[in-house]
Amino acid sequence: MARRKKKTFPAKQLAKALFAGFVAVSIFIFVQREWTEREELAARPLPEGLHPAVEEKAGEFIRLAADQGIDVVITDGFRSGEEQDRLYAQGRTAAGKVVTNATAGSSFHNFGLAVDYALRTPDGRIIWDLDYDGNGNGRSDWMEAADIAKSLGFKWGGDWNGFKDYPHLEMSFGLSLRDLQAGLRPEDRPDAVRAMEGKQ
Ligand SMILES: [Zn+2]
Repeated sequence: MARRKKKTFPAKQLAKALFAGFVAVSIFIFVQREWTEREELAARPLPEGLHPAVEEKAGEFIRLAADQGIDVVITDGFRSGEEQDRLYAQGRTAAGKVVTNATAGSSFHNFGLAVDYALRTPDGRIIWDLDYDGNGNGRSDWMEAADIAKSLGFKWGGDWNGFKDYPHLEMSFGLSLRDLQAGLRPEDRPDAVRAMEGKQ
């Protein structure tokens, strides 16, 4: 009986196998690193207050509006997840009229990047009157205030398509809600933060 000649592993094949192994390990390491990074981001806690740059701009907004004879008040700023859910329930499972379409974690308020404003009349009433012209210059105070806010880098809810949120002002720093939910924060966009701080 003739013994079969032992097959030798050709060098070429060995090289191929090594290369395939190398590629597989590289892909594995890359995917795992991406995954870990994503998990770390997602585990980032939600902010617990208004972002300092937003707070500062909100103050400037009030001052600049006052210069135009418009008394602006900030009625809402940072909102925790529970507060957001309570607000969402309003007009749905709780009494009142619907004021938001956002549930917890889906509003810029939850990330400390939004404020809501209203107007105050000389007799101290807080009003949400889009036509009110308290400074008597023939323009709606509300719209004037919106323009001031926009010049400071805020996005105004009155410009939104569909559901218009006239009191709402937010600063995105180039981040979408999805980015924020994934754990990205303004600090990850230092250039955008600096640009915003430079606006007057
Ligand atoms: Zn708002």
